[in-house]
Amino acid sequence: MQSRNAPTDMTLAGSDPRLATPEPDDDTMPGHTTRQARSLLRVHATNPGVVTVCLTTPRDPAELRGIPARVRALLATVSDGTADRDPTLTATLNAIGETLGRAEGKPLGRGRAVVAAPEIDLFEEVHLPQEVPDSAMLGPHPYVRPLISAIQRSPVYYVAVADRRFAWLFQADAARIREITWITGDQERSRNFAGWDGLEEYRVRRSADERLQRHHRDTAAILEQALRQRESELLVVGGHSEAVSAFVAELDGVAADRLAGTFVIDPHTMTSARVHEHASTVLRDWCARRQRTTLDRIRDDSARAVWGLSDTVGAANQRSVEILCIPEEGTVPGYTCDECGGLSDVRAICPMCQRPARHVDDLYDELAYSVLRSGGEVVAIDPEIADPAEHELPLALNRFG
Ligand SMILES: [Zn+2]
Repeated sequence: MQSRNAPTDMTLAGSDPRLATPEPDDDTMPGHTTRQARSLLRVHATNPGVVTVCLTTPRDPAELRGIPARVRALLATVSDGTADRDPTLTATLNAIGETLGRAEGKPLGRGRAVVAAPEIDLFEEVHLPQEVPDSAMLGPHPYVRPLISAIQRSPVYYVAVADRRFAWLFQADAARIREITWITGDQERSRNFAGWDGLEEYRVRRSADERLQRHHRDTAAILEQALRQRESELLVVGGHSEAVSAFVAELDGVAADRLAGTFVIDPHTMTSARVHEHASTVLRDWCARRQRTTLDRIRDDSARAVWGLSDTVGAANQRSVEILCIPEEGTVPGYTCDECGGLSDVRAICPMCQRPARHVDDLYDELAYSVLRSGGEVVAIDPEIADPAEHELPLALNRFG
């Protein structure tokens, strides 16, 4: 890797065009899924509404041929007789069936979703970083839970692999990684170490140490600037353990705040795939820590915390939720009002406007959507993280005590 990237001169903060040029956005670019999911969370359409169909590509390639039948079964739950009378919906469902039915070349064991709304000319396939249960929904908004989980599980981040002479910089998310630049602080090697006396040797070593520190400092400055300017949310640092400690010691400001963790790797034998594997483990741990911290922070704020379905639904109806934690898996039925967005876990009457409310299979999804619409944040909690004895879900933090 080192020879492939043999640098010729010092790269200074701000002068590297590979950090400054905006890239075309396609499915190979880190962050693509997150950008797609964020924009889909803002979608709203009522006639005939938004269709979201999700399924997971099987881990066993032999099961791929069963996908068209799975898709047909899912679409049948949406059409349910109404599509016969609505040619637009029928055409949309057919197009979804065709798209999801093609499974060759799709990542095994990962989710796929199609979100379509003919009224606003929307038809998008999203490759999710996680597995999702088969589901098909028709409503005024997309099925938001898989999108929220995708964003949460796939933050965009930088990986810096540091050693004494170089630093390699990658950008990655859960599914993709690309090397974007290298940085070197080593401009010239000494001409001849052998003939110098002890004092000279000391000076050379000291100046080498200073050069090394300056190299780490320059790399840290470039990362600081990149983290401020671009969408990457986090930083992961790898390399030999001494280089990692020396480099992390130079991180400051945003770069220090966003350090998700470190890993040990030999830069001279590394491949992008190995870097991604190590960094993904660091990121998974970071995501788990973040979920746990959020749960604890809400639970410990006794003046503003509410928990359990009825109370969190009540808080969402008041548009007062700052952070909502819902389980990442499982559903509960409930009711939603298509007039005002009011929710109920018990009655088919809107508690806000008293009009009839529509039955929904997944009230957690309506709860999440309602909180997002009112400007709150939603965190999906991995079942392995929530301890039911300690954190009753849903759990919400109100804006005011
Ligand atoms: Zn209502």
